Amino acid sequence: MTADVIDGKAFAAGIREKVAGHVARLSEEHGIVPGLAVVLLGEDPASQVYVRSKGKMTREVGMKSIEHRLDAGTSEEELLSLIAELNADREVHGILVQLPLPGHLNSEAVIDAIDPAKDVDGFHISNVGKLATGQAAMVPCTPLGCLMMLREQLGDLSGLDAVVIGRSNIVGKPMAQLLLRDSCTVTVAHSRTKDLPEVAKRADIVVAAVGRPKMVTGDWIKPGATVIDVGINRVDGGLVGDCDYDSCAAVAGAITPVPGGVGPMTIACLLANTVTACCRAHGLAEPE
Ligand code: NDP
Repeated sequence: MTADVIDGKAFAAGIREKVAGHVARLSEEHGIVPGLAVVLLGEDPASQVYVRSKGKMTREVGMKSIEHRLDAGTSEEELLSLIAELNADREVHGILVQLPLPGHLNSEAVIDAIDPAKDVDGFHISNVGKLATGQAAMVPCTPLGCLMMLREQLGDLSGLDAVVIGRSNIVGKPMAQLLLRDSCTVTVAHSRTKDLPEVAKRADIVVAAVGRPKMVTGDWIKPGATVIDVGINRVDGGLVGDCDYDSCAAVAGAITPVPGGVGPMTIACLLANTVTACCRAHGLAEPE
């Protein structure tokens, strides 16, 4: 068997096109331009690449991109005061503080300072609680992108066995919540899970969000299962996922490549979340 390749790059381009359509309508019909503010501290090269491409894609869909690049030594007080300004700015509908933050800053305090209605990353405790209790939340972009690809590939996810490997607040836990919301039977695995290959092999859906290059191999995968590889690992100057692509693709029904799978969906979902936040802020109907 050779798995279908889930083309995240093409899917993400389609989402950005839809977002651009919504942005154009907001502007024509209501005179509103959605604005996304991104705050970056320090010189971390990977974060700089993400922020640059977020800014570029924000402008490409017709939204306003506001970038704040601050020194790595910025104090928590200064950062919180910038967030307060952005919270109060009516032209800013989404705020994203690029993680990880320099070690002297308390990420929880910083995230909790963002107005939950502008928290397009979906990391604020209020959005986490809303997602867990089934209320309208801002949903974290990476798991949201994974869910969209799963729905596109499989249709109704109801009753499917899903194994999420990884329990981080930004990927694993919200992914598990989203799959539960779609009526999957969800197992969340982590570094202490016993017999992980056996656990994974029961799953119709495997989402790997671990950060260990090629950890998941084909013998962990049930024939025909759908494999979503969230991992981004830099190895020998190239990028590889958490799944060993060749051996998994030989068994799976469908699989996301790295690069070109989950990664592009994350930014597309960030743009979609910003439009949603803008519509909510203005009491307008949200895009589907
Ligand atoms: P974290 O490091 O926060 O979490 C990793 C998780 O993997 C933890 O829950 C950890 O378990 C678990 N884990 C570690 N080792 C093992 C093991 N041997 N067996 C089973 N579980 C294990 O990572 P993130 O969730 O932030 O990111 C995961 C990956 O996804 C990374 O490669 C990251 O670069 C990538 N990523 C990609 C994005 C994209 O846009 N495509 C966005 C965000 C992340 P425990 O809790 O027990 O320590």
